[in-house]
Parts: sequence; C-alpha cells; structure tokens
Amino acid sequence: MSVNVGTPSPTLTQTPAKVPAKTPATTPTPTPGANPEAEQWTTITLTKDQVYSGPLVLVNREHKIRPEALPEDIVDLSEQDDLTEGYSLLDPSIELSEAVALRFRELVEGAARDGVRNLRISSGYRNNSEQEELYEEKGSDYALPAGHSEHNLGLSLDLGSTTGAIDQSAEGKWLKKHAWDYGFILRYPKDKVDLTGIQYEPWHFRYVGLPHSRIMKEKNFVLEEYLAYLKEKESIVAEEDGVRYRISYVPVTKRTEFKVPVDGSYEISGDNSDGVIVTVALKEAA
Ligand SMILES: [Zn+2]
Repeated sequence: MSVNVGTPSPTLTQTPAKVPAKTPATTPTPTPGANPEAEQWTTITLTKDQVYSGPLVLVNREHKIRPEALPEDIVDLSEQDDLTEGYSLLDPSIELSEAVALRFRELVEGAARDGVRNLRISSGYRNNSEQEELYEEKGSDYALPAGHSEHNLGLSLDLGSTTGAIDQSAEGKWLKKHAWDYGFILRYPKDKVDLTGIQYEPWHFRYVGLPHSRIMKEKNFVLEEYLAYLKEKESIVAEEDGVRYRISYVPVTKRTEFKVPVDGSYEISGDNSDGVIVTVALKEAA
C-alpha cells in the first residue's frame, strides 16, 4: 500500500512497492530540483497531525502516544485462522494491528523455512487499562505507564518459544538474526538500556518496516538513535532488495511542502516529536 496525497494520516504502511521501470509515451517535464532519476514528481503538503502516527513513531517514557497514533485495524488473533498459521498464542485474547499481523506471518513463514517452528505470541496490543495494570504489576524497569507503551500502538509484540525460555531457544536465536529482514526490530537490546530506559527484553519486538529495520540492524541503532541519525543527516539513500530508497527527515512546522513521486511510491511516518520521515522508492535511471 502506498500513501496517497488524499490519505491524511496513514497508520501503517507496507514497504513501498518496487517501481517497475517503464518508458513513458511522452517525456514528462521533470520538476526542477527533484531527483533526476525519477520521472515525475509532485508537491504534497505535510501537516502537523502526520507527525504523530505511522510505523516509526517513537514512544517511550518521554514520548506519549497521541490520539492520531491509535490503531484502527486491531484484530482478535484467535478469530483469524489465516493470520495465525504456523505459530501459537499464549492466550486467546491476544490482539494486534492487522497490518502488523500480516508482516508477522511472513516472518513466521521465513522462520519455518529455516526449521524454526515454535514461535508464540505472548502479548500484542494492549489498551490503556490493561497497560496500567501491567505497569503496577511489573514496575518501571520492565513496563511503561499507559499511553507510553508500544503495546498501546498495536505495533509491538512479545514473542516466545513453546520449547522454553526465548533466550535459549532456537526461536530467540533466529529472531535475533532475522526479525530485521521482515521489518521488525528487537526494541530493548542488552547494550542500549541507557538509551531506551528499559531493561533487556529478548521477547519484545516492534514493527518499523523495511528498509528501516535493516538499516537499524546494520548500524546497531535503536529507534531513538535511528531517528536522531535521520534528523541529523536530513536525507540518506539506502538499498534494499535491489530498490534504492531515499529516506528524508522533514521538520513539520504548520504546513510544510515536500516533493514526492507522482505514482505514490513513497510512505510517510511521523517521529512523534517534530517531524516526519518520508521514504521514497527511487526509480532506476533509464
Ligand atoms: Zn513487550
């Protein structure tokens, strides 16, 4: 799914589709200043509400979830047989964003191809009162208050193995290596406790989407670092499965204009602070 200009606040978008190289019948006039490799660009207006939703929003002790980020596609996984093929649920009440569940199913299929078949989701989407209860029970080292947990976004899930502790299991080892290939990140690594403010959680995975997850893995970044990096660089180019992406951080002050491809091969996510990240799938030069 790509983000259209008419869609004001995309909650979650998938990887922009690879743009097929095609020769247009008539040569379009390139927009001055736009990437010369692309065929046609248009200007869209980024608005403040886009800052607070999307797969890259930062949610932690300092950054609360804004109403714009609340997921609209939460599904009850135990009622979705097609979504839960190949893994199990710790209890039948587990919910998740449907878009994330679809990406997770791809991860599960990838794991099965490597002979790893005992994945289990132990927690998915939580509403505020469930989060509050958990916070009181677990304390601030392992949990966050309601409105500050990624579980309230529907983008995070706690994973386990039906064979034992995740850290020792084949599932945990596989996830550490491969979750990134499917758009998921280990959100609270052992060596980043100072940055995340949360103890090592080998079970907690967060969906951010490709190509972001692979870049974060390559650079050993947690989300806090990745967003700071994009903000500092303003624009980077990354290659992922043969597609080149330009990832730009755009500060949004009231209404901000930005150039994107006419064909919609881009996605937008807020950082939940003061800007948006625009990820454009670049066309190859003819
Ligand atoms: Zn978790």
